[in-house]
Amino acid sequence: MIDSKINYKVERKKVKGIRMRINPQNEIVVSARIGIPLYEIDQFVSKNRDWIDKTLLKINARKEKESALKERCSNETLVVETENFIKYWQGIILTSDKFPTRVRFRKMKTRWGVCNIKTGVITINSELNKYPKVCLEYVIVHELSHLVHSAHNKNFWNLVEKHLPNYKQRIKLLSLKSV
Ligand SMILES: [Zn+2]
Repeated sequence: MIDSKINYKVERKKVKGIRMRINPQNEIVVSARIGIPLYEIDQFVSKNRDWIDKTLLKINARKEKESALKERCSNETLVVETENFIKYWQGIILTSDKFPTRVRFRKMKTRWGVCNIKTGVITINSELNKYPKVCLEYVIVHELSHLVHSAHNKNFWNLVEKHLPNYKQRIKLLSLKSV
């Protein structure tokens, strides 16, 4: 057979035909009664390769989502990380006459960050402590960039991209939020 071999475990049980499942350890487990020859089980598994691939992908996506939504760090750590990112990126993105006047944290339903251009206050969604640090960094670069270009126009996105060429990937990670 040209196909690469699929690894699986066989359980001998009184079941009708051949059954297959994926256990919590991500192993493929095939149940079949004694008497069904191994080559038949092997054929069954090969025939269901699509199902296995799809199911494993689904399981992995779910696990990634769940682990992403666990708290990555405490609120205190989020504050420190935010301060450090702002200190760093402010010096790169902004000229010295522009700076955020205050940074505050709030749970927000629809936004990851807000920049008030008039007051210079930046609000960070405190739920960002459940997302990778690169997401927090993206939100900060985004909000600081608003102090240069207030609207989401081409110049704005060019500025974001200049500093974070992979910002689109970071946005994708943020879309894991399940609300
Ligand atoms: Zn914006």
